Order: sequence, then C-alpha cells, then structure tokens
Amino acid sequence: MKKSNKIIIVVAASIVFVVLGIAAFTVFYDQAVLVRKGTLYRLASSDKVVALTFDDGPSPVWTPKILDALKKADVKATFFMLGEHVEKYPQIAKRVAEEGHEIGNHTYDHHVLIYYKPEELLKEIKDAERVIQKATGKTTIYFRPPKAWLTAQEKKEIKELGYKIILWSINSKDWVTFDDKYIVKYIARNIQPGDIILFHDSGGVFSTEGGDRRETVSTIPRLAEKLRQMGYRFVTISELLELEKSKKPAPAA
Ligand SMILES: [Zn+2]
Repeated sequence: MKKSNKIIIVVAASIVFVVLGIAAFTVFYDQAVLVRKGTLYRLASSDKVVALTFDDGPSPVWTPKILDALKKADVKATFFMLGEHVEKYPQIAKRVAEEGHEIGNHTYDHHVLIYYKPEELLKEIKDAERVIQKATGKTTIYFRPPKAWLTAQEKKEIKELGYKIILWSINSKDWVTFDDKYIVKYIARNIQPGDIILFHDSGGVFSTEGGDRRETVSTIPRLAEKLRQMGYRFVTISELLELEKSKKPAPAA
C-alpha cells in the first residue's frame, strides 16, 4: 500500500473513532452532574416521592399524547417549555396548565447559554416568561437551562430574577428513543426518594421540534405502575420544594 493511502486510512479511522466516542459520551454520560451546584436536582428525602419533568415542548404531536397518558395514570408533572414553541402552539401550552401540571421556563429558543452576555440571558428568559404568561395565564419561578449548561455567574443572575434553577437526577435519555421497557427498568434500578426525572415531550437527536416520542408516551403508564408498586408517589416541583421547606427546622423567633 502506498504511504499516502495508509495516512488516509489512519486519518479516517481516527475521525470515526472520535465521532463514535462523542456519540457514546452523549448517550451514556449526563453532563448535568457537572452543573448541579446551586441548583435543585433532587431532594434528599426519606419520603418516597418522585417528580417527572418534560422538556422542549409544547409539541402539537407529542404533548397531547403525553397529557392523555399522564391523565390516565393520574400523575401530575412539570413541563419546561420553550418560548418559541409556546408561541407556535399556545393552545397546547394552555392545556398543560389547565390539566393541573406545572410549567417551567426553558428559555425562548434553546440556545446553550454559557457564551451569553447578561442582557442576552435576560432576554431569553424574559421572552419565554412573556409568551408562557400570555398563553397559559401562569407565571413560573422554575428555570431549566438548555442542555444544563450554565456558568456560576449566570446562576447568580437567574436567581436574582427570582427563579429557582431546576435540573434532574435521573436522565431517561428518551431522545435516543430507547425502548420503554428499558427506560422503566433503568429508572426502577436507579431511583432514590426525591429524584427528579428528565423526559422530553418534543424533539429528537438534532432538533427540539418533531422527533419520535412514542417510547416516552408508552413509558408513562409502565413507570407509574412500577414506581407505585415500589411505594413512590408522584409530585410536581412545587410539591417537592414544599417538602424541602417542611424538612427545615423553623427559624428561631
Ligand atoms: Zn431542552
């Protein structure tokens, strides 16, 4: 073989190796663990409570199916919505609120925020806040950053706006479209009281719109049944925070 051909093969093999490595890292590693400081990602609790959260919606296709499944399973969840999707599908956002689920702010258009200037960060949050308020009549104090990335300074700025930053302790990785049986098994094996579980009601590997959330929909009844058998009850983020409050000793008078 010519030397130049050998070099091409080595370079190609290295590129494939790096791409596969990055893909495996994204699928199996959860970078949110690096950003947890100063956020609520689970409540250290002896109560067997668990909060389901759904990001990136509303979606005209998947959110209604997820709402139907949650209603049937008698579970209330928290939806971290994107402003641009709320603006496109206000009726679906409204339905989420009307059915007693909680709403969180997931920015206006899902950009990674770590390179943002303070005024750009403020705009992302406030634009989403405005459209959520317009569509649902609700204001939210819960914020979840896209892909969990935030700098320490941004955390401070977000808290100064009156928001609580909510991450998660179990990542269902449902955007990979794992089988529902696998997702339930994974969660049941890893769950601890006070966990916050991340799902998505919109999007796929490359986009926050569309995607295939069939496995997310079919996970809901299976997971509700399994976790209830294990003694768990489902709570919203507010209910989780109420439990946190009640755990703390009353301040001295
Ligand atoms: Zn997201």
